[in-house]
Amino acid sequence: MTARILVVDDIPANVKLLEVRLLAEYFDVLTASNGVDAIETCENGKVDVVLLDVMMPDMDGFEVCRRLKNDPATSHIPVVMVTALDHVSDRIRGLEAGADDFLTKPVNDLQLMTRVRSLVRLKMLTDELRLRASTTRNIGIEELLARREPAAEQKPRVLLIDEQPENGRRIAEMLDDIAELEIASDPHVGFFRAAEGAYECIVVSTGFAEFDPLRLCSQLRSMDATRFVPIILLAGVGEDERIVRGLELGINDYLTTPIDQQELTARLRTQVRRKRYNDHLRQSVTQTIEMAVTDPLTGLHNRRYLDSHLQTLFDRAVARRRPLSLLITDIDRFKSINDSHGHDGGDVVLREFAQRLRKNVRGIDLACRFGGEEFVVVMPDTDAAIAQKVAERVRAEIADRPFLIGDLKIPVTVSVGVSSLRHGVDSMPDLLKRADVALYEAKSSGRNRVVAKAA
Ligand code: GH3
Ligand code: MG
Ligand code: MG
Repeated sequence: MTARILVVDDIPANVKLLEVRLLAEYFDVLTASNGVDAIETCENGKVDVVLLDVMMPDMDGFEVCRRLKNDPATSHIPVVMVTALDHVSDRIRGLEAGADDFLTKPVNDLQLMTRVRSLVRLKMLTDELRLRASTTRNIGIEELLARREPAAEQKPRVLLIDEQPENGRRIAEMLDDIAELEIASDPHVGFFRAAEGAYECIVVSTGFAEFDPLRLCSQLRSMDATRFVPIILLAGVGEDERIVRGLELGINDYLTTPIDQQELTARLRTQVRRKRYNDHLRQSVTQTIEMAVTDPLTGLHNRRYLDSHLQTLFDRAVARRRPLSLLITDIDRFKSINDSHGHDGGDVVLREFAQRLRKNVRGIDLACRFGGEEFVVVMPDTDAAIAQKVAERVRAEIADRPFLIGDLKIPVTVSVGVSSLRHGVDSMPDLLKRADVALYEAKSSGRNRVVAKAA
């Protein structure tokens, strides 16, 4: 994992110290000796994690952190505050400034590497999501993310899996104001609760009498329902090796006993904040993909979607020697509806038409807006006789009830062409072509009718 770490400290010896240790672990290291330079480096370059000294002349670390976190261009870069003294008040100020983590000087090697690694891993996930979100959507990703989610301030639901009731009680007290905590004292029960409940963080204690906590962590990581839920390990003193294994397995963070309330709160908040940010990104990627294959006017799939799925449905029908039918509909004299009621009136008709069409086909049928006032329905497992009935039902559904534009009742009719797969003869374009020929016949023979070309 090569990642670029920016070390910020006004004292060159401190910079050197961290730089040497990070280089030894094959990280790329950038350095800055003041806040202004640090911010500029973050704005320009590919910084994955910032290690930020608190005490600096001119602009202190808190201010640097605040500025980085307030700028949408840099707010996703994890910031670790490096404090000389482990003052609780410093941590609170750091949290308020938006810091993701803390390290206390002199910096412990295991802590340095594990914190940096886990933040790098999170950052890379975020980067990938940002990239996908920005390449698939034209509006700026920054703008998208700047929209604050109302849920952002909600207390997170957290699951603690801990066999010792005493620990559970203490942690529940510590998190009283911070989270909706649920406790499972049996690891198996905990695992199932985790799979079912929508938790935003899972805290796993290592103190089981007869159960390997890392097995639990690895199971949580491999299950779909919990793959993206952050895991914090509560380890005992001297469990360094286990922590390192845990981090390799994908836990996100750890705390060692005795547990400090400030630290627990800070780490939990960081994990939850990052999860929410990533969930938000993931959602926007999904939305973007949906938008790309959906017709905005009718909510049906668009032609692009049809193009990519028709072949799949076709191949599947051929491989299984199952029937497959397809119908193309074209609204009759639609131009005159536009001419009489305006383009907006025409749109109202298209929307209503799409709804009636959807109501009259099955869920597994693929209904798409082919373009303009033409729609296509692909019907798997449907032979010619049934397809013709469906087409007739659609035709009647349109003709039998007038459409409403405002208070006006407008008669609308549709012509439909139907084709069905001939095994061993048809290619996918043949099937489309035959439906199109059938539609043309329906039009030329008077409209408001169904013509089927089964063979
Ligand atoms: P025919 O019975 O032969 O199908 O006659 P028609 O008037 O329906 O056929 P034609 O293809 O000549 O006209 C289709 C019209 O549909 C022309 C176009 O402006 C209109 N149209 C295409 N897309 C939309 C749309 O999204 N909204 C609206 N309101 N009209 C559209
Ligand atoms: Mg047309
Ligand atoms: Mg038409």
